[in-house]
Amino acid sequence: ARLNSLAARDVAAVFHPYTDQIAHAENGPVVISRGNGVRVLDDAGKSYIDVVAGLWCAALGFSNERLVEAATRQMRALPFYHAFGSKSHEPMIELSEMLLARAPVPMSKVFFANSGSEANDSAIKMVWYYNNARGLHEKKKIIGRIKGYHGITLASASLTGLPYNHKSFDLPLPGFLHTMTPHFYHGALPGETEAEFATRCADELEKLILAEGPETVAALFAEPIMGAGGVLIPPAGYFPKIKAVLDKYDVLLVADEVICGFGRTGQYWGSQTMAVQPDILTCAKALSAAYLPISAVMVNDRVFGPIAEETHKLGTFGHGFTYSGHPVAAAVAVETLKIYDEMNMLDHVGDVGPYMQSELRRRFTDHPLVGEVRGTGLIAAIELVEDKAEHRNFDAGRKVGARTAKHMENLGVIGRALPGDGLAFSPPLIITKSEIDEVLDGVEKALAAITVDLRA
Ligand code: PLP
Repeated sequence: ARLNSLAARDVAAVFHPYTDQIAHAENGPVVISRGNGVRVLDDAGKSYIDVVAGLWCAALGFSNERLVEAATRQMRALPFYHAFGSKSHEPMIELSEMLLARAPVPMSKVFFANSGSEANDSAIKMVWYYNNARGLHEKKKIIGRIKGYHGITLASASLTGLPYNHKSFDLPLPGFLHTMTPHFYHGALPGETEAEFATRCADELEKLILAEGPETVAALFAEPIMGAGGVLIPPAGYFPKIKAVLDKYDVLLVADEVICGFGRTGQYWGSQTMAVQPDILTCAKALSAAYLPISAVMVNDRVFGPIAEETHKLGTFGHGFTYSGHPVAAAVAVETLKIYDEMNMLDHVGDVGPYMQSELRRRFTDHPLVGEVRGTGLIAAIELVEDKAEHRNFDAGRKVGARTAKHMENLGVIGRALPGDGLAFSPPLIITKSEIDEVLDGVEKALAAITVDLRA
């Protein structure tokens, strides 16, 4: 029987993304078979609250019937049509209108892809196309930030600023640069204020642009709050200072809202929470509450105008996916955005978000292993450190964060360890205060367990 178990079949057949393949072969998978609200059940019937909403994405939990019905309705009416060469369909049109109506700054047009990586890849190509259209053929370099996460396609992984996305893949590609991480807790100089730190971040960006030559630099991509890099909140005033530098050198600002978008940070967009004024905005994940893959790129007039002229000269825009604006995914996204409106999602996040933040701080700020508790709305992290006074992390090889997350999992809370031993909190937006209490009880017990492990 064991040979035929799902676990054995998985180990025999599946090449898992983001997984140590050898350890996986030894330990096997956790097979998830059902969803129920913020919870999932494994194939042995064990229930877990997923406090990262899968991968920061299942914003409406794992059993929303309206989304199932929206998908079924659209599949019956029209399961597929494409958008190439002016073909169109209602779900894509409606979703485009809804996104433009909700955009944090005036946006002009919406382009669709299937994943966050593809949205960012598309945005990079739009930036290049835009500068070619303007005759600026040298202005192509793209700047990301160390610890930024923008995906894993060749270009978006080049933009990502995390070592494991580059190492052994021969990345980043030429023309992708990285500027400093705006994380005050680790980055501040002795005596430096947050405002001074933000100014220094902008100065560093300016130095990089000047060193490369402004005529070669096209865009900066930034998450309003860095997610996968550790839930890193920029210092106050950071984005306006960054934007002033970009404007000085005719460099576009692209907001990667793949995690922050749709209420996660307490406002509809992370750009609103963090005062980002993007020319291009990418989003995915909570756009469809993760029920189907879909992502979007919104561009403003400044960018769309020259691109449109160039497509006319060339006779087409030579970029697009078979499934750009897929009608079933678009219908599910339309329904998702309607549900956010009808449930007064921002009011709910405005209620449970501050509760999660204050409870995380009340319970964990003084914990001997916790260096920093950070976050806003329904996104947070607690960072585990070896030396609280010095802000010194554990040696990465000890995997203290991952081991703590494993304890959480055994206690019925699926969590996620980030680089630098941050534990991520990004629950479905529908989570209640009592479910948050349940999660935090699990985290307390997991921290007690890792404390014992570390003494051994
Ligand atoms: N951008 C950000 C901010 C992300 O967090 C992610 C994924 O976690 C991506 C882009 C890539 O999205 P995907 O995994 O859908 O390609």
